[in-house]
Amino acid sequence: MVQRNTWQRERVRSALAGAPGFVSAQDLHAELRGENTGIGLATVYRALANLAATGEADQLQSPDGEAIYRACASTGHHHHLICRVCGKAVEIQATEVETWAQATAAAHGFTQAEHVVDIFGTCADCTAATSARADA
Ligand SMILES: [Zn+2]
Ligand SMILES: [Zn+2]
Ligand SMILES: [Zn+2]
Repeated sequence: MVQRNTWQRERVRSALAGAPGFVSAQDLHAELRGENTGIGLATVYRALANLAATGEADQLQSPDGEAIYRACASTGHHHHLICRVCGKAVEIQATEVETWAQATAAAHGFTQAEHVVDIFGTCADCTAATSARADA
């Protein structure tokens, strides 16, 4: 049983690593279903939550409130630029944000401040594809 769960978690992990950007549990489940792995949606949810808890994946909330995941190259604190059309993500450092967040928290007497800052937009490729469609 433990062995089987480990296998499924590994399969979800490698599917996530192969994804081009942020994906939802449904996205990954649809991909795994195409390979006839027999991994259920509930298992995908559990595996993703587990990967996020152990720091092997980044979890964030899409603008429509869905939990989305990515196996990020950086393990340290970082931010993301995410395309809301294709899910492509760029990992970014935001030094100004770090300084501002610490200073703002300190000004209000807060310590141990944390923050979550991610930028959602339309990537260059999707912007080009959209304007190409509009021209046609
Ligand atoms: Zn990340
Ligand atoms: Zn895009
Ligand atoms: Zn930050």
